[in-house]
Amino acid sequence: MKLSNFYLNTLKEAPQEAQLISHQLMLRANMIKQTASGIYTWLPLGLRVLRKVENIVREEMNKAGAIELSMPMTQPAELWQESGRWQDYGPELLRFKDRHQRDFCLGPTHEEIISDIIRQEIHSYRQLPLNLYQIQTKFRDEVRPRFGVMRSREFLMKDAYSFHTEEKSLVETYNDMAQAYRDIFTRIGLDFRAVSADSGSIGGDTSQEFHVLANSGEDALAFSDNSDYCANVELAESICLEARPEPTQSMELQETPNVRTIKQVSQLLDIPETQCVKLLLVKGTQDDAIALILRGDHQLNEIKAEKHPLIATPLSFVEENIAEKIFNCHFGSLGPVGITIPLIVDNYAAQVADFCCGANQQNHHYIGVNWGRDLPQPETYDLRTVEQGDPSPDGKGKINIRRGIEVGHVFQLGKKYSDAMKLTIQNKEGEEINPYMGCYGIGVSRIVAASIEQNNDQRGIIWRQQIAPFDLHIVLINPKKNPEINALIEQVETLCQQHHLEVITDDRPLSPGNKFADADLIGCPHRLVIGEKGLKNGELEYKARSCEQSEAIPLDNWQEKLITQITLNKG
Ligand code: ATP
Ligand code: MG
Repeated sequence: MKLSNFYLNTLKEAPQEAQLISHQLMLRANMIKQTASGIYTWLPLGLRVLRKVENIVREEMNKAGAIELSMPMTQPAELWQESGRWQDYGPELLRFKDRHQRDFCLGPTHEEIISDIIRQEIHSYRQLPLNLYQIQTKFRDEVRPRFGVMRSREFLMKDAYSFHTEEKSLVETYNDMAQAYRDIFTRIGLDFRAVSADSGSIGGDTSQEFHVLANSGEDALAFSDNSDYCANVELAESICLEARPEPTQSMELQETPNVRTIKQVSQLLDIPETQCVKLLLVKGTQDDAIALILRGDHQLNEIKAEKHPLIATPLSFVEENIAEKIFNCHFGSLGPVGITIPLIVDNYAAQVADFCCGANQQNHHYIGVNWGRDLPQPETYDLRTVEQGDPSPDGKGKINIRRGIEVGHVFQLGKKYSDAMKLTIQNKEGEEINPYMGCYGIGVSRIVAASIEQNNDQRGIIWRQQIAPFDLHIVLINPKKNPEINALIEQVETLCQQHHLEVITDDRPLSPGNKFADADLIGCPHRLVIGEKGLKNGELEYKARSCEQSEAIPLDNWQEKLITQITLNKG
């Protein structure tokens, strides 16, 4: 392909509105163009990448035994009313009326449609299990579309739905899909983790999310450096291996004027924050106040705390003025000694001896406090957010914390939809039963952005060859009608064709500097410079996008050397 015949209008600067590097580079490389908020055109260069990702997803889904179909984007309200989601889904579901005043929506997902098809067409256990998928445009009216195609309103998703008479079969397909996802993300060259997750609003039992690691990710992940344990930080268990030392000090009251925070107490009394405990007052299920105790340096994890039966959901704090009335002292002087309200103590806070805490007297703290002596043995619970370096909850290795971008999700839905939509299948015994269902999504367009987040430098994108728009980018220096050069380019193109490599040749009448800048920006994995000067010296110049140094390829036997370089630097 000659660049002069292609469509490429690169930008030197990223438009102001783009914050993420992937969004900036996709706009600068002319891969996408915003048509409305969260709605994008995939321009020719971007579409080549999107199609490659799509094809990898398709190949691996087919390999795993899933069968492709294509469902409509426009969905009738009746099906959503049957499942109950016409009411439940909220404003992310774009609803509209047709000319006959019938209600419709644009599909954000397809459980209703597929369930409706299956209940009409499949009646016997002999026809199951079935796993059907599509790669199709979804619409979700996201409250804050942002980061380009990372969180857009219209986006390409692969969604698969499986049906089973036995739960065992669902679990098998669920595991096969999770493995297919690992294969897909590995082929695309993503650094990813599989994360155990709560099922959220789709409902059902077991689910796993697949996250690409990137600083710009919206989720914080905690994973082991020595096993495949990985969980969302909001859910990750905090394991305390520390044992409480014996008391060595006696409890003493200390004056702490104007002290409001742990940091101030720690500085004033010269006691490390790890040796202090803090009290947080939250609302209980009986409309009462519950005291949560954490080590001074630890953070409360509200999502975990909410799961305690005494704590009201969603978690809310007792207002400062009410707390001060209950205890008759300032907020900053609250502590666990001598209080009568329920006390829930974090596992770590329960292992501190000789600690410092508020004395429930204005401007006073205790030091040298010990559980089981100055106050009862604590009722412990996992209240804190895990931190970098904590022991991994599976007992293997230490916790690392990184941010992740969710690119895929596998769910065991169970019978939620088959029950709501009265989908039945006759089992072996001749009984009509609701089949088990699974659903499996991949954000195809989000993967393109996520891959750029992981693979770029200050000059532009560095594509993995598997999803690069072209494999080889030829930069033609001072293109003139030079028959020798034209013949050589033709030979390179033929050679590449034989090796199933796609070539773009920059034959535009631009300066070499501009052409190199564009080649770096659009980031094809291999670059070949062809010019009269090089030919005179008897060489071509090869450079891998991921390397700093270029390599001279002598013209004798250049074919083999070029293919060797391309194979070596596949990325
Ligand atoms: P998120 O938490 O990011 O909103 P989700 O849980 O709503 O994702 P699913 O319903 O599981 O997403 O959809 C399957 C996949 O589709 C997600 O893993 C993600 O990769 C992708 N996806 C979801 N919403 C968007 C969006 N607004 N733009 C681009 N991709 C999306
Ligand atoms: Mg969402």
